[in-house]
Amino acid sequence: MFIAKESKKKREARVREIMERLDAHYGDHPMIFLQAKNAWQLLFATILSAQCTDARVNMVTEKLFQKYKSLEDFASCNLKELEEDIHSTGFYHNKAKNIKACATVLVEEYGGEVPKDIDSLTALPGVGRKTGNLILGNIFHIPSIVVDTHVKRISNRLGLADSSDPTKTEFQLMDVLPEEFWIRWNTHIIALGRTLCTSQKPKCELCYLNDLCPSVKGDPETWRSPAERKKEKAADGKRK
Ligand code: SF4
Repeated sequence: MFIAKESKKKREARVREIMERLDAHYGDHPMIFLQAKNAWQLLFATILSAQCTDARVNMVTEKLFQKYKSLEDFASCNLKELEEDIHSTGFYHNKAKNIKACATVLVEEYGGEVPKDIDSLTALPGVGRKTGNLILGNIFHIPSIVVDTHVKRISNRLGLADSSDPTKTEFQLMDVLPEEFWIRWNTHIIALGRTLCTSQKPKCELCYLNDLCPSVKGDPETWRSPAERKKEKAADGKRK
């Protein structure tokens, strides 16, 4: 829900102050939570991270990228064996199928390179806007906003977006955040969401944004519909 009566000028000043404080806590560069040495490794690590913790993905990819050293290795791999290799990340049938198919497309259609535009990225098997934007921002340094569950929830609580649809949230944030903040908005907000602005019990009294946040005195739950809260709770339960 956008804040009623907040002028564009006031919102711009508030956004700048929010970003300055986030930068002061987490640095003025995006943090990378998934370990990867190149674009396709980050792409596959991100595919594996769906409904899985980053720590678990990093444990799995440490061995995986030693075993499969190139896109060709993934493209020609035995699917059942790949499923076993990534089993502990969950949803391994789909993830293995998508990674193998994605590697095949990258080898056959892109000469082993990861494309640099969102349309080509989201046309790859298993790649949605979240993954595509993460690659654009973190690998190619092209301004892009990654909307995950933390970004969706907290952008709404901060009154900078008002949607439960990640694509709408992405476009709303593009309108209110200066481009220079786009890439690190995601990782800064994830860091805030994992510590203070948690899904169920935000620690507003400890939060360094509490004088800039319209949810602080109200019930932050009111920023989301009951249906969305239920969905988010179920998703959080799966991630644990
Ligand atoms: S004040 Fe509360 S609702 Fe607002 S960002 Fe901080 S923890 Fe989240």
